[in-house]
Amino acid sequence: MPSEFTLIDRYFARPTPQAVLGPGDDCALLAPSPGMELAITTDMLVSGTHFLPDTDPHQLGWKTLAVNVSDLAAMGAKPRWVLLAGSLPQADEVWIAAFADGLFACATRYGVDLVGGDTTRGPLNLCITALGEVHAGEALRRDGARDGDDLWVSGQPGLAALGLAHLQGRTSLPDSLAVRCVSALQRPLPRVELGLALRERALATSAIDVSDGVLADIGHIAERSRLDLEGSEGTLPCLPVGADPVLARDCQLTGGDDYELAFTASSDKRAELAALAVRLDLPLWRIGRAVAGEGRVRLLDADGQPVTLKHKGFDHFGQDQGQ
Ligand code: ADP
Ligand code: MG
Repeated sequence: MPSEFTLIDRYFARPTPQAVLGPGDDCALLAPSPGMELAITTDMLVSGTHFLPDTDPHQLGWKTLAVNVSDLAAMGAKPRWVLLAGSLPQADEVWIAAFADGLFACATRYGVDLVGGDTTRGPLNLCITALGEVHAGEALRRDGARDGDDLWVSGQPGLAALGLAHLQGRTSLPDSLAVRCVSALQRPLPRVELGLALRERALATSAIDVSDGVLADIGHIAERSRLDLEGSEGTLPCLPVGADPVLARDCQLTGGDDYELAFTASSDKRAELAALAVRLDLPLWRIGRAVAGEGRVRLLDADGQPVTLKHKGFDHFGQDQGQ
């Protein structure tokens, strides 16, 4: 059986042009660019909680990294370096090779170097720490929304949850939509270019990535910015054609795992955001607005009446395991 160090050398030690020193010493050495702040995030994926034990390892490798890159995107940071701490039940080299390929495919797509980590034996558990850079004082935070701002969301939130429902046999999607939804679930595309553009052009006042469902995640902006966010049913993103509309709407509002960005922006940025959507070839939906309040989220129907929702989103320790 290969040793821990053989596994690291064989599968995880690849060139790290963005590091002063990559894997192999007690620490990696990194040199942040002048005038930049480091944005640092860590996320754990636990077998049985975040993914099924028989998940395809290539997809798992991609997703493990992608969910961390998404947090950097949400801050408007440029992803640069990552560390991988993995606990593996056995040294299954076919599995590890496929996992590493998926991880490095994502690393290449988003321009990050794997600069270090830890490899141990134990229940399957994968933890990435990702570091990015953002111009000092300019990160997109959750607490910057202002009364009167527009509320926006990118892409097609809900596809990942629909893909999960399809895989679990809770719904049956037409073939081409199923492919799209399952890909959204297994190979999410963090919105790094959007986050960078929002920061560079000072378009957004706050941002968050949508990992636990749109309503739940915008709730964090509302809370941290100390105002209410009102969505209007009539301006929600179009539903994917071919899906059960009730399920699709539920997935759109409360499904997790999409890794789209939700953000607030002043209403005088609408034209610039519309142009950005075209440039990035990514839909941007203006779904509501910020109003004075105490940190709540409401969805209003066509008559301006609040819509009652069954559940809001995913919370590992909450009563409402709404997924
Ligand atoms: P230490 O005992 O000094 O913490 P380790 O023996 O755990 O170091 O790891 C040896 C080197 O290999 C370190 O530079 C570490 O960052 C790197 N490393 C360990 N696991 C991984 C991994 N999965 N991916 C990338 N680098 C790794
Ligand atoms: Mg050491």
